[in-house]
Amino acid sequence: MGVEGVTAPSTAPDLSLLPADLQERWPLAAERASRKLAGLSENPAAWRLVQAAQRAPNARQRVVWLQRAADAWAAPMRAVAACKAGCSHCCHTPVTITRLEADLIGRATGRTPASPARSVRLDDHETLAAAIEAQAELQEPGWPGPCPFLADGRCSVYAARPMACRLLLNLDDDDLLCRLIEGTPVPVPYANAGQLRAVYLLAQPGAELADIRAFFP
Ligand code: SF4
Repeated sequence: MGVEGVTAPSTAPDLSLLPADLQERWPLAAERASRKLAGLSENPAAWRLVQAAQRAPNARQRVVWLQRAADAWAAPMRAVAACKAGCSHCCHTPVTITRLEADLIGRATGRTPASPARSVRLDDHETLAAAIEAQAELQEPGWPGPCPFLADGRCSVYAARPMACRLLLNLDDDDLLCRLIEGTPVPVPYANAGQLRAVYLLAQPGAELADIRAFFP
């Protein structure tokens, strides 16, 4: 499970809509992220944990193993990422989880996940990419507000937090580009976790996807 590079925005970011400090930062941040990745080695434990997931007897156990794999994958990058304890920018952005992850969080918190008003099923789409795109289209414009599990600026379900939260790492030196600006997305040099995301979705055939806020309104 290698260190794959930085997630590129799907289209060239329109920097002209951003404040001047962010416009200046983006090319510098992208260069910093690439330089950091070039100096890192992958964590072999991540691949071993993915293999353990593949041997697991059911989807629930596969997801738990893959969450551990995600933590191992992220470990070398955490030391150089901008992400720090107490930072909660990502907890104010859309957080897509599966029904199975909602059940794991439900078990950890004693809360019963709701039936989301709007969700996407993987098997209603021909490809993973189409399902992910359909889920992204369900998101309301603008920022959705804090995750229901954010308490005093910290994650209250850290051990059970979903895959989405384990895989998001800003490889810049600080959180300037994580700033939430209404009306325009800000490009962030996230570590590219595309391979693990795909394995995780394939491990849950027919999974229901929705925002964490829709499972726990
Ligand atoms: S589950 Fe935890 S880490 Fe993930 S968005 Fe919610 S509060 Fe943040």
